[in-house]
Amino acid sequence: MSLDDFPRIPLLFGPSPIHPLPRLSEAMGGQVEIWAKREDCNSGIAYGGNKVRKLEYLVAEALEQGCDTLVSIGGIQSNHTRQVTGVARHLGLGAVTVQESWVDWPDMVYDKVGNIQLTRILGGDIRVDPAGFDIGIRESWERALESVRQAGGKPYPIPAGASDHPLGGLGFANWAREVAEQENELDLFFDHIIVCTVTGSSHAGMIAGFALEDRDDRRVIGIDASATLEKTLDQVTRIATQTAEKIGVGRPLRDQEITVVPGYEGPAYGVPDPQTIDAIHLAARTEGMLTDPVYEGKSLAGLIGMVKSGEIPPGSKILYCHLGGQPALPAYAGAPGLG
Ligand SMILES: *Cc1c(COP(=O)(O)O)cnc(C)c1O
Repeated sequence: MSLDDFPRIPLLFGPSPIHPLPRLSEAMGGQVEIWAKREDCNSGIAYGGNKVRKLEYLVAEALEQGCDTLVSIGGIQSNHTRQVTGVARHLGLGAVTVQESWVDWPDMVYDKVGNIQLTRILGGDIRVDPAGFDIGIRESWERALESVRQAGGKPYPIPAGASDHPLGGLGFANWAREVAEQENELDLFFDHIIVCTVTGSSHAGMIAGFALEDRDDRRVIGIDASATLEKTLDQVTRIATQTAEKIGVGRPLRDQEITVVPGYEGPAYGVPDPQTIDAIHLAARTEGMLTDPVYEGKSLAGLIGMVKSGEIPPGSKILYCHLGGQPALPAYAGAPGLG
């Protein structure tokens, strides 16, 4: 089997753009070259993002099976459920999303603006649930699936982040192949890839995709933003292994191919700390590149921290994978430095 054996419904504009970040590189001492690949502007569907890329493979199966409703789960300010709902509407399907209290954030408009507002505009069927953060399978989600069946519909189940699913890693395995093609066109090679990791399949898909190259001079570094490191590491390992098998890597993954770095997750999932805010400011004020306080500000803080500490050595060519997430920013106007 190879990646091309899996049906895919194109939902993106094409390859997502890659561009240099010269002023950010300079602001960090000019010893490394930083570029970004932009999943935050990868699609015209509901602002796009990494979940739309993963859904290219999942919805191909949903349509093949004759399903009429996508059913998924996330937090109140979930980017994922916004993208699931947008993709459903784009394909003429219904969407039911369970939205849990993953983040204890006191802002009065937290459950009104940003992603949840966009999901409502898209006409999603939102089921608000009081449960806390967990990337695992939830009973509320099973209930949502059952309610679609009871109403005579045919649900297609999509777990949190479209990750813990047999096809969850394929979108970013395809991303890895896309990077290699863009590197050929640009005549350069990224020796470090930085990606935010929470439900794990963006990171895991890349690991599997790059494992096909079988070279040892490219490091894929996942920056944990879950603050439940063990669960995320387990899930990344499991999805990377299963995706590698699916796309024909034909060897076990090596320990050094799976790297999840803690230290940048802040006090909890969804809650920024001062280094998250500093990172958001630095990219915004040197490059005009916006990032969010839940995910991308944290992975950016990881990039900055690892360059400063020398864990990413001088001379490196770094690709920062920007996975999206800016639609959550209005919900965080009450955070120091964000409003
Ligand atoms: C979901 C999400 C992530 C985390 O990706 P996973 O595949 O769940 O690990 C990172 N950034 C943004 C903006 C996201 O929406």
